[in-house]
Amino acid sequence: MVVDSKTERRERGLRRIREEIDWYKTTLKELDKLTTDETKLWAPLMRAQLEQYEKTLRCVEERKPLLASYWSICPEVYRAMDIHYFNVQGHHFQQSQARFVIRELEECDKLGLARDNCSLLRLAMYYIASGLMPTPTMIIHKLEPCDALLGLHEAVRTHKEWRDIPHYSLDPPYWEDDRTLDYYAGEVNGVVSFLEEQTGKKLDVDRLREIIKESNKQYELWAEYNELRRAVPCPHGYDLSAQLYPMVQIFWTGDPRCTAWLRDMVGDAEERVRTKKGWLEREKVRVIWFDVYCIWLRDLNAWLEQEWAANIVMDMSSYCPYTLIDTSNEHTMFKGLGKRTLCDQIMVRQVRGSADRLLSDLQRMIKDHKADAVIPPTHIGHKDQIASLGLIREVCRDAGVACLDMGMVDIFDPRYTTIDEIKDRLSRYLITMGLG
Ligand code: SF4
Repeated sequence: MVVDSKTERRERGLRRIREEIDWYKTTLKELDKLTTDETKLWAPLMRAQLEQYEKTLRCVEERKPLLASYWSICPEVYRAMDIHYFNVQGHHFQQSQARFVIRELEECDKLGLARDNCSLLRLAMYYIASGLMPTPTMIIHKLEPCDALLGLHEAVRTHKEWRDIPHYSLDPPYWEDDRTLDYYAGEVNGVVSFLEEQTGKKLDVDRLREIIKESNKQYELWAEYNELRRAVPCPHGYDLSAQLYPMVQIFWTGDPRCTAWLRDMVGDAEERVRTKKGWLEREKVRVIWFDVYCIWLRDLNAWLEQEWAANIVMDMSSYCPYTLIDTSNEHTMFKGLGKRTLCDQIMVRQVRGSADRLLSDLQRMIKDHKADAVIPPTHIGHKDQIASLGLIREVCRDAGVACLDMGMVDIFDPRYTTIDEIKDRLSRYLITMGLG
């Protein structure tokens, strides 16, 4: 492990952000040369990610307030207060970083962290230790849903370069009843007080209302888009649909440009459904990827499309089970934001509480999206899902769809079970189940 000065760490982090910025600028330039309907939908995604890095760079270079937070903790509040944030746990899993991932996983191994921990979090620890993650001026932690995340929290809280940074942690109760949500609204209020104290800014409640109203529109459009994905053949491929979640919850939360992009997504999908133009020329297999999006899934997805005419029609990140937020007053807004953070988001929704929700989501996805097969990747970090595998198989059996259980994989480390091995397993399954 490299031991170096604060300046060296800072420079290394800045160098990496600049590399990401260059990657997005080049990609955008290439996209702008093409004018297909698909590239028009990809361009705003690249722009949003580029903007994310540019803002982070500005904060570090100009030593402005920079918030490190975990995925989707009330991003509407951050936006209403005009506070830039990056996601500690996913900062290193953007499209531009796929090219570094193997090298960095190898470096991460040298930290000696347990290999059965989720590599998403192992890599976050490596990014902090090596200085590749920018050092924030304040941190807001999420203490759910998995034990691995609590491990990351401890690493962040005690790391020598990060331990003196002011931080706030939301305390997640176990239940989801009204009393719980009232309590958690208080935790969201705590987020606001913490940010006000750290930045000297004051939350303008009317501005928050405006942002939430815009983000409500985005959730409605997201749900509408998902309904269009029920069509046979499915109008779009998976790569594109997997981007709704980061756009709505991370990059352009409550931003009218995101709403416009979602309208274009819906419009394009509507037109394709109307003209029966599927993403695949001859869609043969409709797949539910029963987990979150991961970095090597793009390759696997391309292979599924080309070799098996299989389209991933739904997954856990693209699923949209969110409740619209009542904007009548401050309490209803905090309560609604709290519910999204505590109960609705990916990972949280599937991991906390009993297996009922996991299974009913799966039943619904299979039915609504007319699935032929479910792939539960059994990610090594997802002890909860591995424990529920028997139940997942049962749901698939009852619904009459194939359950293509891939054995044990690490969805963030393609070295654990190689892509070739996964392809081989899936091919055998698809043939055996008569889907090939
Ligand atoms: S992917 Fe799973 S194990 Fe990893 S942080 Fe998310 S919930 Fe935890």
